[in-house]
Amino acid sequence: MVSDKLKIASSDSPSWRIRGSAIITQKDLLCRSVTSEQLLVIVGGGAAGVYAAIRSKHVAPSLDVLVIEKGKPLSKVKISGGGRCNVTNGSCVEKMTLVENYPRGSKELRGSFFDVHGPLDTISWFSQHGVELKTEEDGRVFPVSNSSSTVIDCLLHEAKRKGVTLQIGKVVTKASVDANGKFLLQVEKRSIDSVEYVEADFLLIATGSSRQGYTIAIQLGHSIIDPAPSLFTFKIADAQLADLSGVTFPRVKAKLKLQNSSRTIPQFSQVGPMLVTHWGLSGPVILRLSAWGARDLAESDYKGTLFVDFVPDIHIEDVKHTLIQHKEKLAKQKMINSLPLRFGLVRRFWRYLLEREGLDGEILWSSFSNSSLHSLALLLKQCTFPIVGKGQFKDEFVTAGGVPLSEISLSTMESRLQPRLFFAGEVLNVDGVTGGFNFQNAWSGGYIAGTSIGLASIASAKIPT
Ligand SMILES: Cc1cc2nc3c(=O)[nH]c(=O)nc-3n(C[C@H](O)[C@H](O)[C@H](O)COP(=O)(O)OP(=O)(O)OC[C@H]3O[C@@H](n4cnc5c(N)ncnc54)[C@H](O)[C@@H]3O)c2cc1C
Repeated sequence: MVSDKLKIASSDSPSWRIRGSAIITQKDLLCRSVTSEQLLVIVGGGAAGVYAAIRSKHVAPSLDVLVIEKGKPLSKVKISGGGRCNVTNGSCVEKMTLVENYPRGSKELRGSFFDVHGPLDTISWFSQHGVELKTEEDGRVFPVSNSSSTVIDCLLHEAKRKGVTLQIGKVVTKASVDANGKFLLQVEKRSIDSVEYVEADFLLIATGSSRQGYTIAIQLGHSIIDPAPSLFTFKIADAQLADLSGVTFPRVKAKLKLQNSSRTIPQFSQVGPMLVTHWGLSGPVILRLSAWGARDLAESDYKGTLFVDFVPDIHIEDVKHTLIQHKEKLAKQKMINSLPLRFGLVRRFWRYLLEREGLDGEILWSSFSNSSLHSLALLLKQCTFPIVGKGQFKDEFVTAGGVPLSEISLSTMESRLQPRLFFAGEVLNVDGVTGGFNFQNAWSGGYIAGTSIGLASIASAKIPT
Protein backbone atom coordinates (compact mmCIF):
# COMPACT_ATOMS: atom_id res chain seq x y z
CA MET A 1 0.00 0.00 0.00
CA VAL A 2 1.17 3.48 -0.76
CA SER A 3 1.01 4.71 2.81
CA ASP A 4 3.73 2.21 3.86
CA LYS A 5 6.14 3.82 1.51
CA LEU A 6 5.36 7.42 2.19
CA LYS A 7 7.52 9.58 4.34
CA ILE A 8 7.25 13.04 5.76
CA ALA A 9 8.34 15.64 3.24
CA SER A 10 9.79 19.05 3.62
CA SER A 11 7.59 21.81 2.28
CA ASP A 12 10.27 24.39 1.74
CA SER A 13 9.81 24.61 -1.99
CA PRO A 14 8.39 28.05 -2.76
CA SER A 15 5.90 26.59 -5.18
CA TRP A 16 4.43 24.57 -2.32
CA ARG A 17 3.38 27.27 0.01
CA ILE A 18 0.79 26.30 2.59
CA ARG A 19 -2.57 28.05 2.51
CA GLY A 20 -2.90 30.77 5.14
CA SER A 21 -5.81 29.32 7.05
CA ALA A 22 -4.80 25.69 6.88
CA ILE A 23 -3.45 24.04 10.01
CA ILE A 24 -0.70 21.72 8.86
CA THR A 25 0.73 18.95 10.93
CA GLN A 26 3.81 17.02 9.92
CA LYS A 27 1.55 14.08 9.30
CA ASP A 28 -0.24 16.10 6.64
CA LEU A 29 2.85 16.48 4.55
CA LEU A 30 3.11 13.36 2.48
CA CYS A 31 5.82 12.62 0.06
CA ARG A 32 7.25 9.58 -1.61
CA SER A 33 10.29 8.05 -0.01
CA VAL A 34 13.36 7.20 -2.03
CA THR A 35 12.32 3.59 -2.38
CA SER A 36 12.75 1.67 -5.61
CA GLU A 37 8.98 1.47 -6.17
CA GLN A 38 7.39 4.16 -8.20
CA LEU A 39 4.14 5.94 -7.56
CA LEU A 40 1.38 6.65 -10.02
CA VAL A 41 -1.11 9.21 -8.80
CA ILE A 42 -4.44 9.26 -10.57
CA VAL A 43 -6.47 12.41 -10.04
CA GLY A 44 -10.14 11.41 -10.27
CA GLY A 45 -11.82 8.17 -9.29
CA GLY A 46 -14.29 8.09 -12.17
CA ALA A 47 -14.62 5.51 -14.93
CA ALA A 48 -11.34 6.43 -16.65
CA GLY A 49 -9.34 6.78 -13.44
CA VAL A 50 -10.42 3.53 -11.79
CA TYR A 51 -10.13 1.52 -15.02
CA ALA A 52 -6.61 2.92 -15.56
CA ALA A 53 -5.66 2.13 -11.96
CA ILE A 54 -6.70 -1.52 -12.36
CA ARG A 55 -4.93 -1.84 -15.69
CA SER A 56 -1.68 -0.27 -14.50
CA LYS A 57 -1.55 -2.62 -11.49
CA HIS A 58 -2.27 -5.52 -13.81
CA VAL A 59 0.66 -4.60 -16.06
CA ALA A 60 3.03 -3.57 -13.25
CA PRO A 61 1.98 -5.14 -9.94
CA SER A 62 4.86 -3.48 -8.07
CA LEU A 63 3.83 0.02 -9.14
CA ASP A 64 2.16 1.93 -6.33
CA VAL A 65 -1.13 3.31 -7.54
CA LEU A 66 -2.96 6.02 -5.61
CA VAL A 67 -6.33 7.33 -6.79
CA ILE A 68 -7.36 10.66 -5.27
CA GLU A 69 -11.08 11.36 -5.52
CA LYS A 70 -12.73 14.49 -4.21
CA GLY A 71 -16.23 13.03 -3.91
CA LYS A 72 -17.52 9.51 -4.14
CA PRO A 73 -15.71 7.19 -6.54
CA LEU A 74 -17.58 6.35 -9.75
CA SER A 75 -20.42 8.70 -8.87
CA LYS A 76 -21.29 9.29 -12.53
CA VAL A 77 -21.37 5.56 -13.19
CA LYS A 78 -23.91 5.37 -10.38
CA ILE A 79 -26.36 7.81 -11.98
CA SER A 80 -25.59 6.83 -15.57
CA GLY A 81 -28.12 5.35 -17.96
CA GLY A 82 -30.98 6.20 -15.59
CA GLY A 83 -29.27 4.13 -12.85
CA ARG A 84 -28.63 1.20 -15.19
CA CYS A 85 -25.24 2.32 -16.65
CA ASN A 86 -25.03 2.09 -20.39
CA VAL A 87 -21.53 0.60 -20.31
CA THR A 88 -20.74 0.68 -24.02
CA ASN A 89 -22.33 0.18 -27.44
CA GLY A 90 -22.61 -3.27 -28.97
CA SER A 91 -23.81 -2.19 -32.45
CA CYS A 92 -20.96 0.08 -33.39
CA VAL A 93 -18.03 -2.23 -32.87
CA GLU A 94 -16.42 -1.66 -36.25
CA LYS A 95 -13.94 1.20 -35.78
CA MET A 96 -15.02 3.44 -38.64
CA THR A 97 -18.67 3.20 -37.56
CA LEU A 98 -17.75 3.69 -33.94
CA VAL A 99 -15.79 6.92 -34.46
CA GLU A 100 -18.77 8.49 -36.25
CA ASN A 101 -20.38 8.74 -32.81
CA TYR A 102 -17.80 11.19 -31.45
CA PRO A 103 -18.48 14.82 -32.45
CA ARG A 104 -15.16 15.70 -30.82
CA GLY A 105 -12.61 13.02 -31.60
CA SER A 106 -14.10 11.38 -34.69
CA LYS A 107 -10.97 12.08 -36.75
CA GLU A 108 -8.30 11.46 -34.11
CA LEU A 109 -9.86 8.26 -32.74
CA ARG A 110 -9.55 6.60 -36.17
CA GLY A 111 -6.01 5.55 -35.23
CA SER A 112 -5.23 2.69 -32.87
CA PHE A 113 -7.31 3.99 -29.92
CA PHE A 114 -10.26 1.60 -30.25
CA ASP A 115 -8.11 -1.20 -31.73
CA VAL A 116 -6.32 -1.43 -28.41
CA HIS A 117 -9.48 -1.55 -26.33
CA GLY A 118 -12.82 -1.21 -28.10
CA PRO A 119 -16.41 -2.03 -27.17
CA LEU A 120 -15.91 -5.80 -27.56
CA ASP A 121 -12.91 -5.64 -25.21
CA THR A 122 -15.00 -3.71 -22.70
CA ILE A 123 -17.75 -6.30 -22.93
CA SER A 124 -15.33 -9.17 -22.39
CA TRP A 125 -13.50 -7.33 -19.59
CA PHE A 126 -16.69 -6.88 -17.60
CA SER A 127 -17.89 -10.42 -18.40
CA GLN A 128 -14.56 -11.85 -17.25
CA HIS A 129 -14.86 -9.85 -14.05
CA GLY A 130 -18.30 -11.18 -13.24
CA VAL A 131 -20.61 -8.52 -14.73
CA GLU A 132 -23.13 -10.16 -17.03
CA LEU A 133 -24.08 -7.78 -19.83
CA LYS A 134 -26.92 -7.58 -22.34
CA THR A 135 -27.17 -5.65 -25.59
CA GLU A 136 -30.50 -3.94 -26.23
CA GLU A 137 -32.07 -3.56 -29.67
CA ASP A 138 -30.59 -0.11 -30.22
CA GLY A 139 -27.08 -1.37 -29.40
CA ARG A 140 -26.82 -0.02 -25.85
CA VAL A 141 -25.10 -2.43 -23.47
CA PHE A 142 -26.28 -2.66 -19.85
CA PRO A 143 -25.60 -5.00 -16.95
CA VAL A 144 -28.20 -7.79 -16.83
CA SER A 145 -28.91 -6.66 -13.25
CA ASN A 146 -30.14 -3.31 -14.67
CA SER A 147 -28.20 -1.68 -11.87
CA SER A 148 -25.12 0.53 -12.15
CA SER A 149 -24.08 -0.70 -8.69
CA THR A 150 -23.05 -4.00 -10.29
CA VAL A 151 -20.51 -2.11 -12.43
CA ILE A 152 -19.29 -0.03 -9.48
CA ASP A 153 -18.93 -3.05 -7.18
CA CYS A 154 -16.97 -4.88 -9.86
CA LEU A 155 -14.54 -1.99 -10.48
CA LEU A 156 -13.98 -1.19 -6.80
CA HIS A 157 -13.57 -4.84 -5.89
CA GLU A 158 -11.04 -5.36 -8.67
CA ALA A 159 -9.13 -2.19 -7.75
CA LYS A 160 -8.92 -3.34 -4.14
CA ARG A 161 -7.89 -6.86 -5.12
CA LYS A 162 -5.09 -5.48 -7.26
CA GLY A 163 -3.85 -3.27 -4.41
CA VAL A 164 -4.90 0.15 -5.69
CA THR A 165 -5.09 2.76 -2.91
CA LEU A 166 -8.14 4.98 -3.07
CA GLN A 167 -8.28 8.18 -1.06
CA ILE A 168 -11.64 9.87 -1.08
CA GLY A 169 -12.79 13.29 0.05
CA LYS A 170 -9.50 14.86 -1.08
CA VAL A 171 -9.02 17.41 -3.86
CA VAL A 172 -5.87 17.90 -5.88
CA THR A 173 -5.66 21.67 -6.08
CA LYS A 174 -2.21 22.30 -7.52
CA ALA A 175 0.41 20.49 -9.55
CA SER A 176 3.93 21.22 -10.71
CA VAL A 177 6.99 19.36 -11.94
CA ASP A 178 10.35 19.47 -10.19
CA ALA A 179 13.79 19.50 -11.77
CA ASN A 180 13.89 15.69 -11.74
CA GLY A 181 10.64 15.42 -13.66
CA LYS A 182 8.64 14.33 -10.60
CA PHE A 183 5.19 15.70 -10.00
CA LEU A 184 4.39 17.63 -6.86
CA LEU A 185 0.74 17.68 -5.97
CA GLN A 186 -1.07 19.76 -3.42
CA VAL A 187 -3.95 17.80 -1.96
CA GLU A 188 -6.58 19.38 0.25
CA LYS A 189 -9.03 17.72 2.57
CA ARG A 190 -11.48 20.53 3.01
CA SER A 191 -13.60 18.85 5.66
CA ILE A 192 -10.73 19.11 8.13
CA ASP A 193 -8.91 22.03 6.55
CA SER A 194 -5.68 20.18 5.89
CA VAL A 195 -3.18 20.27 3.07
CA GLU A 196 -0.98 17.38 2.00
CA TYR A 197 1.79 17.17 -0.55
CA VAL A 198 2.36 14.14 -2.71
CA GLU A 199 5.28 13.46 -4.98
CA ALA A 200 4.52 11.19 -7.92
CA ASP A 201 6.60 9.52 -10.61
CA PHE A 202 3.64 9.25 -12.97
CA LEU A 203 0.54 11.39 -13.05
CA LEU A 204 -2.76 10.60 -14.72
CA ILE A 205 -5.38 13.32 -14.92
CA ALA A 206 -8.79 11.70 -15.15
CA THR A 207 -10.89 14.50 -13.73
CA GLY A 208 -13.77 14.43 -16.19
CA SER A 209 -15.25 17.85 -16.87
CA SER A 210 -14.16 19.35 -13.55
CA ARG A 211 -12.70 22.86 -13.73
CA GLN A 212 -10.04 21.86 -11.20
CA GLY A 213 -8.83 19.23 -13.64
CA TYR A 214 -8.49 21.84 -16.38
CA THR A 215 -6.57 24.09 -13.98
CA ILE A 216 -4.13 21.30 -13.17
CA ALA A 217 -3.64 20.61 -16.88
CA ILE A 218 -2.88 24.32 -17.45
CA GLN A 219 -0.44 24.35 -14.51
CA LEU A 220 1.39 21.51 -16.20
CA GLY A 221 1.69 23.38 -19.49
CA HIS A 222 -1.40 22.29 -21.39
CA SER A 223 -4.05 24.41 -23.03
CA ILE A 224 -7.78 23.93 -22.68
CA ILE A 225 -10.41 24.16 -25.38
CA ASP A 226 -13.26 26.07 -23.77
CA PRO A 227 -15.77 23.65 -22.26
CA ALA A 228 -19.30 23.70 -23.69
CA PRO A 229 -22.23 21.47 -22.76
CA SER A 230 -23.30 18.66 -25.06
CA LEU A 231 -26.32 16.33 -25.10
CA PHE A 232 -29.22 18.60 -24.27
CA THR A 233 -32.76 19.17 -25.46
CA PHE A 234 -33.98 22.18 -27.42
CA LYS A 235 -36.28 24.81 -25.95
CA ILE A 236 -38.82 25.70 -28.63
CA ALA A 237 -40.93 28.86 -28.68
CA ASP A 238 -44.28 27.33 -29.62
CA ALA A 239 -47.08 27.31 -27.04
CA GLN A 240 -49.17 24.83 -29.04
CA LEU A 241 -46.29 22.37 -29.15
CA ALA A 242 -46.35 22.10 -25.35
CA ASP A 243 -49.84 20.59 -25.64
CA LEU A 244 -48.23 17.68 -27.46
CA SER A 245 -45.92 16.88 -24.54
CA GLY A 246 -45.25 13.14 -24.47
CA VAL A 247 -45.90 12.55 -28.18
CA THR A 248 -43.14 10.51 -29.81
CA PHE A 249 -42.21 10.23 -33.48
CA PRO A 250 -40.38 6.99 -34.25
CA ARG A 251 -38.62 8.38 -37.30
CA VAL A 252 -38.16 11.98 -38.36
CA LYS A 253 -35.41 13.79 -40.23
CA ALA A 254 -34.36 16.93 -38.40
CA LYS A 255 -32.01 19.60 -39.70
CA LEU A 256 -30.32 22.27 -37.60
CA LYS A 257 -29.74 25.82 -38.82
CA LEU A 258 -28.01 28.20 -36.45
CA GLN A 259 -28.61 31.88 -35.98
CA ASN A 260 -25.01 33.15 -35.90
CA SER A 261 -23.30 30.50 -37.93
CA SER A 262 -23.47 29.58 -41.56
CA ARG A 263 -21.40 26.45 -40.92
CA THR A 264 -23.16 23.28 -41.93
CA ILE A 265 -21.86 19.75 -41.70
CA PRO A 266 -23.67 16.57 -42.77
CA GLN A 267 -24.22 15.74 -39.09
CA PHE A 268 -26.46 18.81 -38.67
CA SER A 269 -29.08 16.61 -40.30
CA GLN A 270 -30.12 13.53 -38.31
CA VAL A 271 -32.72 10.79 -38.72
CA GLY A 272 -34.34 8.90 -35.84
CA PRO A 273 -36.86 9.14 -33.00
CA MET A 274 -38.00 12.50 -31.61
CA LEU A 275 -40.03 13.34 -28.53
CA VAL A 276 -42.08 16.40 -27.57
CA THR A 277 -41.51 17.63 -24.01
CA HIS A 278 -43.10 20.36 -21.89
CA TRP A 279 -40.60 22.92 -23.09
CA GLY A 280 -39.60 21.70 -26.53
CA LEU A 281 -38.07 18.77 -28.33
CA SER A 282 -35.96 15.85 -27.18
CA GLY A 283 -35.19 12.26 -28.17
CA PRO A 284 -32.18 10.68 -29.90
CA VAL A 285 -32.35 12.93 -33.00
CA ILE A 286 -32.28 16.11 -30.93
CA LEU A 287 -29.53 14.86 -28.61
CA ARG A 288 -27.38 13.93 -31.58
CA LEU A 289 -27.93 17.38 -33.11
CA SER A 290 -27.08 19.02 -29.78
CA ALA A 291 -23.84 17.02 -29.66
CA TRP A 292 -22.74 17.73 -33.23
CA GLY A 293 -23.81 21.35 -32.92
CA ALA A 294 -22.62 21.81 -29.30
CA ARG A 295 -19.97 24.39 -30.09
CA ASP A 296 -21.92 26.25 -32.82
CA LEU A 297 -25.02 26.28 -30.65
CA ALA A 298 -23.04 27.80 -27.76
CA GLU A 299 -21.68 30.46 -30.13
CA SER A 300 -25.23 31.17 -31.37
CA ASP A 301 -26.47 31.46 -27.77
CA TYR A 302 -28.65 28.41 -28.43
CA LYS A 303 -30.71 30.22 -31.06
CA GLY A 304 -31.58 28.76 -34.39
CA THR A 305 -34.18 26.92 -36.41
CA LEU A 306 -35.01 23.25 -36.57
CA PHE A 307 -36.48 21.88 -39.81
CA VAL A 308 -38.33 18.62 -39.25
CA ASP A 309 -39.47 16.21 -41.93
CA PHE A 310 -42.16 14.08 -40.27
CA VAL A 311 -42.42 11.65 -43.18
CA PRO A 312 -38.78 11.27 -44.26
CA ASP A 313 -39.43 8.13 -46.29
CA ILE A 314 -42.16 9.68 -48.45
CA HIS A 315 -41.33 12.10 -51.25
CA ILE A 316 -43.18 15.46 -51.20
CA GLU A 317 -45.05 14.61 -54.43
CA ASP A 318 -46.10 11.32 -52.89
CA VAL A 319 -47.28 13.15 -49.74
CA LYS A 320 -49.46 15.42 -51.92
CA HIS A 321 -50.75 12.42 -53.86
CA THR A 322 -51.66 10.63 -50.60
CA LEU A 323 -53.56 13.73 -49.40
CA ILE A 324 -55.40 14.00 -52.73
CA GLN A 325 -56.38 10.32 -52.61
CA HIS A 326 -57.58 10.72 -49.03
CA LYS A 327 -59.62 13.76 -50.01
CA GLU A 328 -61.28 11.84 -52.80
CA LYS A 329 -62.00 8.72 -50.75
CA LEU A 330 -63.12 10.39 -47.52
CA ALA A 331 -64.68 13.56 -48.91
CA LYS A 332 -67.57 13.48 -46.41
CA GLN A 333 -65.38 13.07 -43.32
CA LYS A 334 -64.30 15.97 -41.12
CA MET A 335 -60.59 16.70 -41.47
CA ILE A 336 -60.04 16.53 -37.72
CA ASN A 337 -61.46 13.00 -37.56
CA SER A 338 -59.67 11.43 -40.48
CA LEU A 339 -56.00 11.45 -41.44
CA PRO A 340 -54.01 9.33 -43.89
CA LEU A 341 -52.75 6.33 -41.95
CA ARG A 342 -49.72 6.10 -44.21
CA PHE A 343 -48.15 9.07 -42.42
CA GLY A 344 -48.18 7.21 -39.10
CA LEU A 345 -49.13 10.36 -37.17
CA VAL A 346 -51.08 10.55 -33.92
CA ARG A 347 -54.36 12.46 -33.91
CA ARG A 348 -53.06 15.13 -31.46
CA PHE A 349 -50.27 16.00 -33.86
CA TRP A 350 -52.63 16.04 -36.83
CA ARG A 351 -54.73 18.61 -34.98
CA TYR A 352 -51.59 20.65 -34.30
CA LEU A 353 -50.71 20.63 -38.03
CA LEU A 354 -54.19 21.75 -39.05
CA GLU A 355 -54.10 24.55 -36.48
CA ARG A 356 -50.65 25.64 -37.64
CA GLU A 357 -51.99 25.83 -41.18
CA GLY A 358 -54.96 27.87 -39.94
CA LEU A 359 -57.34 25.15 -41.10
CA ASP A 360 -60.63 24.51 -39.34
CA GLY A 361 -60.59 20.81 -38.47
CA GLU A 362 -64.39 20.77 -38.60
CA ILE A 363 -64.45 21.27 -42.37
CA LEU A 364 -64.99 18.28 -44.64
CA TRP A 365 -62.16 16.86 -46.67
CA SER A 366 -64.14 17.84 -49.77
CA SER A 367 -63.75 21.54 -48.81
CA PHE A 368 -59.98 21.22 -48.43
CA SER A 369 -58.53 23.50 -51.14
CA ASN A 370 -55.65 22.40 -53.32
CA SER A 371 -53.42 25.26 -52.15
CA SER A 372 -54.01 24.29 -48.49
CA LEU A 373 -53.28 20.70 -49.43
CA HIS A 374 -49.94 21.73 -50.90
CA SER A 375 -48.95 23.79 -47.89
CA LEU A 376 -49.96 20.97 -45.50
CA ALA A 377 -47.76 18.59 -47.48
CA LEU A 378 -44.92 21.10 -47.20
CA LEU A 379 -45.47 21.45 -43.46
CA LEU A 380 -45.21 17.69 -43.06
CA LYS A 381 -41.96 17.67 -45.01
CA GLN A 382 -40.40 20.83 -43.63
CA CYS A 383 -41.93 21.95 -40.37
CA THR A 384 -39.91 24.74 -38.74
CA PHE A 385 -39.42 25.18 -35.00
CA PRO A 386 -37.64 28.21 -33.50
CA ILE A 387 -34.93 27.09 -31.06
CA VAL A 388 -34.74 29.65 -28.26
CA GLY A 389 -32.55 27.91 -25.73
CA LYS A 390 -31.12 24.79 -24.24
CA GLY A 391 -32.96 22.42 -21.95
CA GLN A 392 -31.49 19.76 -19.69
CA PHE A 393 -31.28 16.11 -20.51
CA LYS A 394 -30.97 14.23 -17.25
CA ASP A 395 -30.15 10.75 -18.51
CA GLU A 396 -26.81 11.72 -19.94
CA PHE A 397 -24.84 14.90 -20.14
CA VAL A 398 -21.27 15.51 -21.22
CA THR A 399 -18.90 18.38 -21.83
CA ALA A 400 -17.27 19.21 -25.13
CA GLY A 401 -13.82 20.78 -24.83
CA GLY A 402 -10.88 20.10 -22.53
CA VAL A 403 -7.28 19.16 -23.26
CA PRO A 404 -6.75 19.21 -27.07
CA LEU A 405 -6.01 15.81 -28.57
CA SER A 406 -3.10 17.35 -30.46
CA GLU A 407 -1.32 17.75 -27.11
CA ILE A 408 -1.34 14.04 -26.24
CA SER A 409 -0.35 10.82 -27.96
CA LEU A 410 -3.46 8.69 -28.35
CA SER A 411 -1.37 5.53 -28.60
CA THR A 412 -0.12 5.98 -25.03
CA MET A 413 -2.33 8.78 -23.63
CA GLU A 414 0.90 10.51 -22.59
CA SER A 415 1.26 14.25 -22.84
CA ARG A 416 3.35 15.44 -25.77
CA LEU A 417 4.45 18.34 -23.59
CA GLN A 418 5.35 16.71 -20.31
CA PRO A 419 6.87 13.23 -19.97
CA ARG A 420 5.12 10.84 -17.54
CA LEU A 421 1.96 12.94 -17.54
CA PHE A 422 -1.11 11.16 -18.88
CA PHE A 423 -4.76 12.01 -19.54
CA ALA A 424 -7.86 9.85 -20.01
CA GLY A 425 -11.61 10.27 -20.23
CA GLU A 426 -13.75 13.36 -20.49
CA VAL A 427 -10.95 15.76 -19.44
CA LEU A 428 -9.85 15.44 -23.06
CA ASN A 429 -11.58 17.14 -25.95
CA VAL A 430 -13.52 13.96 -26.74
CA ASP A 431 -17.23 13.38 -26.30
CA GLY A 432 -19.75 11.06 -27.84
CA VAL A 433 -23.43 10.96 -28.57
CA THR A 434 -25.69 8.93 -26.27
CA GLY A 435 -25.50 5.16 -26.42
CA GLY A 436 -22.52 4.15 -24.26
CA PHE A 437 -19.91 6.01 -26.32
CA ASN A 438 -18.81 8.31 -23.52
CA PHE A 439 -17.98 5.49 -21.15
CA GLN A 440 -16.25 3.69 -24.00
CA ASN A 441 -13.95 6.69 -24.36
CA ALA A 442 -13.23 6.48 -20.62
CA TRP A 443 -12.55 2.71 -20.67
CA SER A 444 -10.36 2.88 -23.81
CA GLY A 445 -8.36 5.89 -22.61
CA GLY A 446 -8.01 4.46 -19.10
CA TYR A 447 -6.88 1.11 -20.45
CA ILE A 448 -4.27 2.62 -22.77
CA ALA A 449 -2.96 5.01 -20.10
CA GLY A 450 -2.80 2.20 -17.53
CA THR A 451 -0.91 -0.04 -19.93
CA SER A 452 1.57 2.68 -20.95
CA ILE A 453 2.25 3.74 -17.37
CA GLY A 454 2.64 0.12 -16.25
CA LEU A 455 5.11 -0.60 -19.04
CA ALA A 456 6.99 2.66 -18.51
CA SER A 457 7.36 1.95 -14.80
CA ILE A 458 8.73 -1.53 -15.52
CA ALA A 459 11.14 -0.10 -18.09
CA SER A 460 12.40 2.67 -15.79
CA ALA A 461 12.74 0.30 -12.83
CA LYS A 462 15.22 -1.69 -14.93
CA ILE A 463 17.42 1.33 -15.60
CA PRO A 464 20.20 1.30 -12.99
CA THR A 465 20.52 4.58 -11.10
C1 LIG B 1 -26.51 11.87 -15.68
C2 LIG B 1 -25.47 11.26 -16.56
C3 LIG B 1 -25.68 10.02 -17.13
C4 LIG B 1 -24.75 9.45 -17.99
N1 LIG B 1 -25.00 8.22 -18.54
C5 LIG B 1 -24.08 7.68 -19.37
C6 LIG B 1 -24.28 6.38 -19.92
O1 LIG B 1 -25.24 5.68 -19.58
N2 LIG B 1 -23.35 5.91 -20.81
C7 LIG B 1 -22.25 6.64 -21.16
O2 LIG B 1 -21.45 6.17 -21.98
N3 LIG B 1 -22.02 7.85 -20.62
C8 LIG B 1 -22.89 8.37 -19.73
N4 LIG B 1 -22.65 9.59 -19.18
C9 LIG B 1 -21.36 10.26 -19.46
C10 LIG B 1 -20.27 9.59 -18.56
O3 LIG B 1 -20.75 9.55 -17.24
C11 LIG B 1 -18.97 10.35 -18.62
O4 LIG B 1 -18.58 10.52 -19.96
C12 LIG B 1 -17.90 9.56 -17.86
O5 LIG B 1 -18.27 9.45 -16.52
C13 LIG B 1 -16.55 10.23 -17.96
O6 LIG B 1 -15.65 9.49 -17.16
P1 LIG B 1 -14.38 10.20 -16.54
O7 LIG B 1 -13.73 9.18 -15.66
O8 LIG B 1 -13.58 10.82 -17.59
O9 LIG B 1 -14.95 11.40 -15.66
P2 LIG B 1 -15.89 11.33 -14.39
O10 LIG B 1 -16.73 10.13 -14.37
O11 LIG B 1 -16.56 12.65 -14.32
O12 LIG B 1 -14.86 11.20 -13.18
C14 LIG B 1 -13.98 12.24 -12.83
C15 LIG B 1 -13.78 12.17 -11.33
O13 LIG B 1 -12.74 13.06 -10.96
C16 LIG B 1 -13.06 13.65 -9.73
N5 LIG B 1 -12.27 14.88 -9.66
C17 LIG B 1 -12.36 15.94 -10.49
N6 LIG B 1 -11.43 16.86 -10.15
C18 LIG B 1 -10.76 16.37 -9.08
C19 LIG B 1 -9.70 16.87 -8.28
N7 LIG B 1 -9.13 18.06 -8.53
N8 LIG B 1 -9.27 16.12 -7.24
C20 LIG B 1 -9.83 14.91 -6.99
N9 LIG B 1 -10.84 14.39 -7.71
C21 LIG B 1 -11.29 15.11 -8.75
C22 LIG B 1 -14.56 13.86 -9.82
O14 LIG B 1 -15.13 13.97 -8.53
C23 LIG B 1 -15.01 12.61 -10.56
O15 LIG B 1 -15.37 11.57 -9.67
C24 LIG B 1 -23.56 10.16 -18.29
C25 LIG B 1 -23.34 11.41 -17.71
C26 LIG B 1 -24.28 11.96 -16.85
C27 LIG B 1 -24.01 13.29 -16.22
